[in-house]
Order: sequence, then structure tokens, then C-alpha cells
Amino acid sequence: MIAVRGVSRAVGWSRAPVLSRCHTPIRMLSTENVVRDEGKGALLRVLSDSIQANGPMTVPTYMQACLTNPDHGYYAGKLQEESHGILGATGDFITSPEISQVFGELLAVFFVSRWQAAGSPNRIRVIELGPGRGTLLSDMLRTFSAFPPMFDAIKSLELVEASPALLTQQEHSITTTLKQAGKKLVSPAISVENLESDSMRAEWFPSYHGVNVDPDSWTIVIAHEFFDALPIHIFEKKLEGWREVLVDVNHGEDQGVKVLKASDIINKANTKKKDPQLRFVVSPGATAWSQLLAARNERFKHFQPGQRVEVSPVSWAVARRMGEWISGYDSLKVDNEGRALTPEEPLKLARERSSLGGCGLVVDYGADRFFGDSFRAFRNHKIVSPLELPGQSDLTANVDFTFLSHAITTTDAQSYGPMTQRDFLASLGLNMRLKKLLEDNPSNRSKDIQQAAARLVDPTGMGEQYKILCVSAERAEKAGERSAEEIYPFL
Ligand code: SAH
Repeated sequence: MIAVRGVSRAVGWSRAPVLSRCHTPIRMLSTENVVRDEGKGALLRVLSDSIQANGPMTVPTYMQACLTNPDHGYYAGKLQEESHGILGATGDFITSPEISQVFGELLAVFFVSRWQAAGSPNRIRVIELGPGRGTLLSDMLRTFSAFPPMFDAIKSLELVEASPALLTQQEHSITTTLKQAGKKLVSPAISVENLESDSMRAEWFPSYHGVNVDPDSWTIVIAHEFFDALPIHIFEKKLEGWREVLVDVNHGEDQGVKVLKASDIINKANTKKKDPQLRFVVSPGATAWSQLLAARNERFKHFQPGQRVEVSPVSWAVARRMGEWISGYDSLKVDNEGRALTPEEPLKLARERSSLGGCGLVVDYGADRFFGDSFRAFRNHKIVSPLELPGQSDLTANVDFTFLSHAITTTDAQSYGPMTQRDFLASLGLNMRLKKLLEDNPSNRSKDIQQAAARLVDPTGMGEQYKILCVSAERAEKAGERSAEEIYPFL
């Protein structure tokens, strides 16, 4: 069975179906799932040594090491073959763009309509957060190529990707698609002004920090299954107040923090033991994060002792940055009470100039609320403990869309939704697109095509569990001027 990360039970077929694209078999993976045996357990030992020396670690520190550690992290596999074990039919999980090309096509149709509503600006840049194998972007670019004025207006692709192996696949996939549409990728060293009509600049960034605001471009942002991979803190309400859930080595004693003496470490190092095991513990006192993110948060004030909540400050920062890219304005800094500070001169001036605005979509599993126990891991299409074999499985947590929307309200952009994937795709004409696809393809593919599309909107699976949040900003003469827009289908 193929795991869809947002769906906590098996969905689909009893045997993994390999769904191919209509015209080219690009979605068929030829290699077997490669497990990194040589590295198995290596990260576990690194993490357990660090915990022995420094005490239990926060869940974000643990997640970051597991996902993006340059040597042993899940997404950072350096060998090309390794990343085949992550995404796709033979990987650990599969995502909507990998299931059906219709997904990317309909997202592209949405952006075409927003671009037209914005007055068809002639300079567009596309930012994608975590493009995976580049499938979604390729499907979108192919669809944009059917709208030549818009396609020609796309000058730059700015892609945020932590995995070097996936980056290579993205480049390959996008280059192939552009070639079919008569265009080529060029270095970002070429300025937009000097760009030839058959060229598109492409730049990769290992972190979202590297991507700047550009008020002279109409900015498209796509984040598909990106926020769920960002680190979360877990807090637990106790009678005495908020505490933080931490990752500790399982010493076999009762839950709590054990203080080690130097001699314990030396003795441990001298005795060869089996692999350590990790477990969750609750911090004995408040931590800086529990004070900052849980104790002061109005949303959590009615929590009862024993209740937990997951909070991702990185998600807040990325959502805020998304609002800045889309509005074309860096935001005002705020003080500890949330009051806007008077901007320094360069920021003040930048906020007084015009911006083309833009539009973005966040697609992920989650809801308009917080979650307490959604942290989980995927390996070989199965849900496993997030503490088992660190670096060997995908770690993920549901997305709190209210939290993202709040972050966006601190910028010059506005958020709309979230709405379910099912309603979004249906409103954008899934059935019509499907009909056309069936007409254009041999009848022996009809069943696959229909099943794949049905899976995207399945009310008991992806259709309801995946949500779509829109972030948008109109053209503006200066910051702080925009009003709400009417954005179909986010009404
Ligand atoms: N959007 C793709 C892939 C989703 S998997 C799809 O839906 O098919 C998550 C993607 O985000 C991967 O490309 C992964 O390498 C990337 N990623 C995860 N955490 C990241 C981080 N902190 N910084 C940059 N990229 C990250």
C-alpha cells in the first residue's frame, strides 16, 4: 500500500499501483526502494551521545537532525538513488502531484486566473517551497505554456530545497518540461532585463531565508506538503503550568531527566552495548519555549492538565515570509507585546514604493485548529514511531492553518480559506479536465486515470484531509493600502 501522509490509515489499492503520466512514463520509478544500511543507526548514536552529554533535546532539534542532517538526514541523502526511497510509488509516501497530473494542472489554472485578475503583469517569478521531485512545478509549467502571454512573463524560478539529491531531480524534471515547451533554464546571474525570450532563470536555496522580496515581480508561491515537514515543539499542560516534551535516551528508569556524572559517561563508553533507544520525557520545569509559545498563548488558556499541543515557530516564520514575498513588502518589526516598531529608513523607503503583489497556495494536511498528537513517522508506507531509526523515516505533523493565517495577518498580504482539496479541485473543474484527459488517452489507461483523480478528492481520505490556504496581495502603490479581494473559489 502507498502511504499518503495526511491519511492515517491505508487508502487505495491492496497492491502498489504505479501510475504513469499520460504521455511520458516520468512517474514510473525504475529503481527499488534503497535503504541506507550503512548509515542505519549512525544518527541514533550521534543523537544519543549528544543527549548523554547535554541532556534531553527539544523535538525541533531532533526533527531537524533527522530530516536535514547533511550526513544522515532523511531529506539530505547525497546519492541520487537514495531519494528514490522518499517520494513516489516505491518511496515512503506519495503526494498528490505524484498521483495525478491533473492536480498541478488545476493549481496552474487557478494561478492563471489570479494573474489575469491582477491585470496580467509582465514579470512573474515562481517560488516553490520543497519541490520534491519537481513534478508539481513541471505540471504547472506545462499548463502555463498553454497560455503564452503568461508563460513568457515567467522570468524566474526560486526553489527552496534542503536535499541535494532532490534538487538534481528537480532540475532534470523542469529542464525536460521547459525543453518540450521551447524554453531553457539559465543561471540567475543573468538579470531579468538581459534574459532572452526562450530563457527562464532558476535558483535553488537551501533555506527560505535566502529568498528576497521583489516588488517588481508578480510573485507566485507554492508550498505543497512543505509545512508538515517543519519542526514542531510539543508542550504539555501540567497542574503547575506548561512543560515541554523532550527527546531523551531510554535509561530504563522512570520518566524524568537524569543527570549524568562524568564517570557514568566514561564507563558507558568503555562497555560495548546494543543500540540505544530514545523516548519522550516531560521537562521537570518550564522551558524558554514553553513560556514563550504555550504559556502566553491565548488559544491554549483553557487547556486541562494532561493535554498536549504542537507548535511550530518555524512555520510561523515561513508563513510570514510568504506574506512578505507575495505582498512585495518586508513587514514592520514588532516588540514583545506585538506592537509595530517605527521602521528604520531603508525599510521605510522600501515600504513607500509600489509593488505588483502576487498569490500563493499552501496545500497540506491539517485543519483550522491546533493538534496535540499528530507527530508521526513514515517508512515504507507504514506509520512508525518517530523515535525509531532516526534519519530513516519521514517525520511529519499536521498543519495548524489558523496559526499560519495569523502569521500572514502580520504582513501586507491576506489569507483566504483554508478549504478542502476536494472542494478546491471540484470548483476548478476537475471533472471537465478529467473528461478531456480520458478522451486524449487510450482506453486501457482510463481506469488508472479515473482512480487517480478520484483519490485526490476522496471524501474519506485526501479530499477532506488536505486543505488549501490562499495568500494574496493586489498591486499597491505603497505598503499598508490593500483591501480584501474576491478570490474564487475562496469566497
Ligand atoms: N512538494 C513535493 C514534496 C513534498 S516532501 C510534493 O508534494 O511532491 C517535502 C519537500 O520539502 C522535500 O522536497 C524536502 O526535501 C523539502 N524540505 C523539507 N524540509 C525542508 C527544509 N527545512 N528546508 C528546505 N526544504 C525542505
